[in-house]
Amino acid sequence: MTGGIRKPTEGEGEYIARIEYLRRKKVEEEKDREMAEETKRKRKELHFMHCPKCGMQLIEVDYKTLKIDRCSGCDGVWLDAGELEAAAGLDKGLLGRILGL
Ligand SMILES: [Zn+2]
Repeated sequence: MTGGIRKPTEGEGEYIARIEYLRRKKVEEEKDREMAEETKRKRKELHFMHCPKCGMQLIEVDYKTLKIDRCSGCDGVWLDAGELEAAAGLDKGLLGRILGL
């Protein structure tokens, strides 16, 4: 008598192995994505309102109608999106001073 569980044929085994591989690959890809998100979140938390050059705290200062972030360490100036254009429109000399031209 030849009872017991039928072993999968070679082709079936390959198929199962491939499905298993794809399933685990998907899990790993998901883990990768989560890790990337976590890294992004942590980086933002760590760097928010810190100078991109020296890492010191930025201080928000008013310049006319603009809010300029100035570094407490190296005196570097950081403008938010659109503020450089706005600053250039406000005062022709300011853009040159910021860029040191
Ligand atoms: Zn700085």
